[in-house]
Amino acid sequence: MKKSTFWDKLILTFVFAIIIASIFFNADKSSYLDKKAIIYSKTKVISYNLEDDKDIEIEGLKGKVNIKIRNGGLWVAAAECPDKTCVKCGQISEAGQSIACLPNGVMVLIENSSDSGSIIDDVAK
Ligand SMILES: [Zn+2]
Repeated sequence: MKKSTFWDKLILTFVFAIIIASIFFNADKSSYLDKKAIIYSKTKVISYNLEDDKDIEIEGLKGKVNIKIRNGGLWVAAAECPDKTCVKCGQISEAGQSIACLPNGVMVLIENSSDSGSIIDDVAK
């Protein structure tokens, strides 16, 4: 009886270890820490880690576009464009989402870091 209890506990511990490891692995993969914002403008392509809060000012075709990164999400806080569609878009925080300011030729999108190629990283640094 005691022996089987010992093995039960051992197996249970092992199973728990696997579950906990997989939770951490999945949480890490879906976490915003692994996402980054890629900003395309007329002159450059910049990428920012969504982990870091930042205020970014982009020089667009019509004027400035102000982008804020906060708590793993980002939004266009202000833009010098006639329609303000980009500002009305609100906040995005999921990979694959994007905001475009067409009058300024600026586009922001969120990607998983693992999806991106090395070219963008090279431009950013
Ligand atoms: Zn706009």
